[in-house]
Amino acid sequence: MRTANVVIVGGGIVGSSIAYHLTAAGCKDVLVIERESAQGKGSTGKSMGGVRAQFSTVSSIQMSLYSIPFYASFEERLERPSGYRPQGYLFCATSETHMAYLRMNYEKQVALGLKDAQLIAAEEIRNMFPQLRSDDIVGGSFCSSDGFVDPYSAMIGFMTWAADHGAQLWKNTEVTSIKRDAYGINAVETTRGSVATRNVVNCAGPWAATVAKMVDIDLPVEPFRRMLVPTEPFDQFPHSAPMIIDMSTGFHFRPEGLGFLMAWNDPEETPGYKADFDPAFIEKILTRAADRVPVFENIAVNPKRAWAGLYEMTPDHHPILGPVAEVPGFFLANGFSGHGVMHAPATGKILADLILDRKTDLVDSSVLSFSRFAEGRMIEETAVL
Ligand SMILES: Cc1cc2nc3c(=O)[nH]c(=O)nc-3n(C[C@H](O)[C@H](O)[C@H](O)COP(=O)(O)OP(=O)(O)OC[C@H]3O[C@@H](n4cnc5c(N)ncnc54)[C@H](O)[C@@H]3O)c2cc1C
Repeated sequence: MRTANVVIVGGGIVGSSIAYHLTAAGCKDVLVIERESAQGKGSTGKSMGGVRAQFSTVSSIQMSLYSIPFYASFEERLERPSGYRPQGYLFCATSETHMAYLRMNYEKQVALGLKDAQLIAAEEIRNMFPQLRSDDIVGGSFCSSDGFVDPYSAMIGFMTWAADHGAQLWKNTEVTSIKRDAYGINAVETTRGSVATRNVVNCAGPWAATVAKMVDIDLPVEPFRRMLVPTEPFDQFPHSAPMIIDMSTGFHFRPEGLGFLMAWNDPEETPGYKADFDPAFIEKILTRAADRVPVFENIAVNPKRAWAGLYEMTPDHHPILGPVAEVPGFFLANGFSGHGVMHAPATGKILADLILDRKTDLVDSSVLSFSRFAEGRMIEETAVL
């Protein structure tokens, strides 16, 4: 029977980062199991690639403070590009409540060591982007080291480095069950046969709850459709722009190729494995787009190029990381709630620390543990928009 020190279920960006961090820390015999014929067919290949440190909670900020410098130095470390482009994130506030929220976040970010964030006046936003309708903008926040990465390239970079240093990737192989003995996990069953192991990491993205069920754990991770609309080439807005977020509607966009990539969280969306793009979404998003950026009124969109993917949502919109006390040897890296690409480097480091050393300095791992739900310790947002 094949044996492995650690089996990682799922070869998306999270599984790949964990494989990299384990291997880089000296762990031998890491096996990543991916059921698809190629990596990136889950959420990673659908992502918008945004990376930011402008968060409201300590754990999210700390994870970004590890991840963004990691992406910035990715090529030096892994000899492959992450596609990191530090073009920033610009939050545009349209009420004093928004501004109070940004101010509170900013203070927390600075206290934790973020140097590139700043609060900015409405006038500054008007000067930076006169194309924005700014009559209701009261101010905002901007962080110059926020930006974008190429999720596919980063995922392949992590996995290739790990494979070059001893880890293995099995594609076209599905994990069908997880076996236990008196000590905890002792094997996984796959469509390629059994693998004896004492450590399994659930990196199954939106399918994480199904994998957790294999060890009788009810994992509160739900798939939630998210749609993105790329535009045709458009030159009436600068391509050096950051990710721009209209806080009045949640509409946001960033440059992509010769056009722009637009996103909006549709409040009518319901949970489920819906992978199809709904053409009706185009009118909804273009209405918000033209409202904030009047020149977008004439922007061309080809519905055939738009796509949908799945967010992996948790009840408190924070990931679930680390061991499960009830099942020794079973680890979780799930529920990133829209932030799995930007937090993949930190997740890899945290999981490698917890698997190899049982502790990590990167975050207070108890805050992100699975037990927080049973113990009523869900993470509270410092402010709700
Ligand atoms: C439209 C969209 C936009 C997004 N934008 C951003 C963004 O701007 N920034 C950001 O940080 N995040 C963003 N996200 C979220 C981000 O893409 C995800 O959080 C991240 O990709 C999760 O990575 P993962 O490796 O955990 O999951 P996945 O990439 O889904 O990988 C999980 C893998 O597990 C495999 N698998 C599942 N079950 C099994 C099994 N039983 N056996 C073997 N293999 C199995 C699947 O085939 C899959 O390849 C976005 C997501 C979407 C959908």
